[in-house]
Amino acid sequence: MITPVFEPAVTSTPRKQNVRSISHLIIQGLLAFSLAAQAQTDSSEADYLLGLYEHLHANPELSFAEKATSARIAQELRQIGFSVTEGVGGFGVVALMENGEGPTLMLRTDMDALPVQERTGLPYASRVTTAGEDGTEVPVMHACGHDIHMTVLVGAARRLAAARETWKGTLMLIAEPAEEWGAGARLMLADGLFERFPRPDYNLAAHASAELPAGVIGYTPGYAMANVDSVDIRVRGIGGHGAYPHKTKDPVVLAAELVLQLQTIVSREVSPLESAVITVGSIQGGTKRNIIGDSLHCIQRCSLPCRDPPSGRVSGHSPRSHGICSLHAEASSMLAGVQRCLNRRRC
Ligand SMILES: [Zn+2]
Repeated sequence: MITPVFEPAVTSTPRKQNVRSISHLIIQGLLAFSLAAQAQTDSSEADYLLGLYEHLHANPELSFAEKATSARIAQELRQIGFSVTEGVGGFGVVALMENGEGPTLMLRTDMDALPVQERTGLPYASRVTTAGEDGTEVPVMHACGHDIHMTVLVGAARRLAAARETWKGTLMLIAEPAEEWGAGARLMLADGLFERFPRPDYNLAAHASAELPAGVIGYTPGYAMANVDSVDIRVRGIGGHGAYPHKTKDPVVLAAELVLQLQTIVSREVSPLESAVITVGSIQGGTKRNIIGDSLHCIQRCSLPCRDPPSGRVSGHSPRSHGICSLHAEASSMLAGVQRCLNRRRC
C-alpha cells in the first residue's frame, strides 16, 4: 500500500543539493508521462513517450521471456547516451551515465507482463498469446503496469540526459526481468549487479497505483510494501464416482474448507493492529462433473506482516487441515518470497 506523504525539502549540504536536484528532475520525468496520459500537453516528447507506452503495452512478454522488451529498453537508453549492458541476470539491463563527482542514483523498472486476457478494447490492446507455465496457450497483458514503469524510466532518463548541466553524479538505470516471480532482482544480484556496476547511494523504484489519481505521486517513509510469499499446496484424497461420495475422500470439498481455514490466519492469528492478506489465486482439480478426483492443486499468495516471515504460517496450517479433515493437504512447494522494501526517512 502506498500512502502519499508530502514532506519538506531536504536540508542543504552540497551532496544533498545534488541529490535534491536529481530527485527534482526525476519527479519531472515521472510527471511527464502522467501529464501525457491525461492529454494535458501536446509536446512531441509526450507523444514520443505515449508511442513507446503503446508499443510496450501491445507487445507484452511473460517473466523470463522479456527478450524484445529488454532490447527495446536498451536501445532507448543507448540512443540518448547511456552506456548499456544487456543480459544481466537473464534479460536484465543496466545503463550508466557518469556526469562528474556526486552520488550514484539508481532508478529501476520492471519489464514482465502477466498471463491475463486484455478486455479493454483499446486500439493498442494486447492480442499476444504464448505458452504458459504448464505449456498451454495463455493470453499476455501488461496488467500490472510495468509498461508504465518502463515508459516512466525512459521519460525520466531522457529528461535527465537532456539536462545534464543541472546535476552531477552517476545515473544508474536498471530494467529488471521476472519481477512477478520475485526472481529477476535476485538473478541480477547474483550476476554481480553491485560488483560489476556501482553500488548506488539512492534508489528510486516506482510502481503504478490504482489507488491514486493520475498525476499524483505517492511516497512513504518506512515500509512501502509487504513481504510476499507464494505456496503451492497439493490436496490428496481418494477418488471415485460422484454417485458414491461416501466411498471417496473428496479433495474438492477439502480444498473448499482449506480456503476458508487459511483466512483464519489473518482473522485469528495476526494482530488486528497489523495488516495481512492471504489469497488463493488458483485451484485446479477434477476432470469431469461426475468424477471425484484423487488430488487437487492450490496456488496461493500471502502478504503477511512486515515483522513476520509469512510462509511458515501457511505451510504450518496445511498439516493442521490434515488433522481436521483426515485427508492430506501439504505445501508441495514454496517459492522464495520477496522481502519488504524499507524506505529510510533521510534523503
Ligand atoms: Zn507489478
